[in-house]
Amino acid sequence: MIPATMRAWKVRTPAPVDTHPLQLTNTEVPTPAADEALIAVRTCGVCRTDLHVTEGDLAVHRPHVTPGHEVVGEVVALGNAVTTLAVGDRVGVAWLRHTCGECTYCLAGRENLCPLSRYTGWDADGGYAEFLTAPASFVYSLPGGYSDAELAPLLCAGIIGYRSLRRADLPPGGRLGIYGFGGSAHITAQVALAEGAEVHVMTRGEHARRLALELGAASAQGAADRPPVALDSAILFAPVGDLVPPAMEALDRGGTLAIAGIHLSDVPSLNYQRHLFQEKQIRSVTSNTRADALEFLAFAGRHRIEITGPHYRLDQADRALEDLSAGSIAGAAVLQVG
Ligand SMILES: [Zn+2]
Ligand SMILES: [Zn+2]
Repeated sequence: MIPATMRAWKVRTPAPVDTHPLQLTNTEVPTPAADEALIAVRTCGVCRTDLHVTEGDLAVHRPHVTPGHEVVGEVVALGNAVTTLAVGDRVGVAWLRHTCGECTYCLAGRENLCPLSRYTGWDADGGYAEFLTAPASFVYSLPGGYSDAELAPLLCAGIIGYRSLRRADLPPGGRLGIYGFGGSAHITAQVALAEGAEVHVMTRGEHARRLALELGAASAQGAADRPPVALDSAILFAPVGDLVPPAMEALDRGGTLAIAGIHLSDVPSLNYQRHLFQEKQIRSVTSNTRADALEFLAFAGRHRIEITGPHYRLDQADRALEDLSAGSIAGAAVLQVG
């Protein structure tokens, strides 16, 4: 029995999260379009991008949007054109929810660059709610052996981190630097370690440094500190442009820095000799393709990933984002909804 109304958080006017721009509302349960599923949310991960949407670092795409794009839930109704899902399926909804399928990027297997791409919890209402709709072709089946709360962070933190690791071009057995150690980084470190990498973590939080070492990192130091070895590759997870120069300096010749975030504060000027010469590269990471998601979820099915992080109730979503903003969350936070 699907109720008529539900609880859902809405961003009234984007503003610093401690001024309470989010409001918990009672709103109608959405009706799925012909190609969509209606999903009862069980857990929704809390991602830094939700903070960017809430605080206005990302421009408003849908007024009063419901954030949340790491959704694990159960299919409760289907549009009449959907043949790939069934009521009762446990599924995941991630950030990317639409691409055109026809542009040069889509046709080249680079749908993450599609100019008509749309995103859950930004262009359409997301999972900080009891229900959401999602296009069936962007709904994922999930690996077994994980709880709902463990699966949720895999859907953005995991997938984007996985793409970032690929973009960082880490050679087999290589030395990887990770700058910032939140939800995405703690998953990506485990993927890299499972693939044989030597991982060095640079992060501001004492908690996060301890977690990094527990997960198998070879070293953990302060956010801008020099790692003990030259790095083949690095990933910048912290949304802090000031960390680009030290990360570039820490790279070995020919090394690559991938910047994982959707938002980064300004990068200070770089010195060509110190930061770029010797064929060092900087790359951004833009969203992900469905192929990345399927590849990563299959990887998570083969290699157990330990997901750590605090659990909040749905009505505590604003507090979860305040904690994320304050840097006081170790691992990946989730909202327990249903
Ligand atoms: Zn396209
Ligand atoms: Zn995210």
